[in-house]
Amino acid sequence: MARPGQFCVELHTNAPWAHAPDVRDRIAEAVARSAARWGGSTLDLTGWTIVFQDGEVDCNVLWRRTGCTDVAERKMTVRSDRADCVDGTVLPHEIGHALLPLGDPMHWDAGWHDDGAWERLEDAFVADGGCPVEPLSAWEP
Ligand SMILES: [Zn+2]
Repeated sequence: MARPGQFCVELHTNAPWAHAPDVRDRIAEAVARSAARWGGSTLDLTGWTIVFQDGEVDCNVLWRRTGCTDVAERKMTVRSDRADCVDGTVLPHEIGHALLPLGDPMHWDAGWHDDGAWERLEDAFVADGGCPVEPLSAWEP
């Protein structure tokens, strides 16, 4: 059993940011900030596994395969090789799927289109030496 707030991170990527010495801290911070953007916290991700991988992500629902969230399995997969840092991956978007009721696969929640919330998240990332949020994080058809 995972302790409250404890989640697993698997790094299967050659992205340079994923090999920085502080990558675990950076990921933890990106997860916490992204969860807060959705009105939650790291506690909501207890027992989850977040996989960072290169190349397209297999996902049965989404045609755009930069990320995938399996709510039943509590597993999130995030494409990593196109981002300059963890903040620039689709992680903040996938965390929305993890936290919203039933994963909101159709993006019906108004939060997906809350530009102000995305901007505040991006500002927090950039102020802390991170990188801009992947545009797909903000909006997806
Ligand atoms: Zn989505």
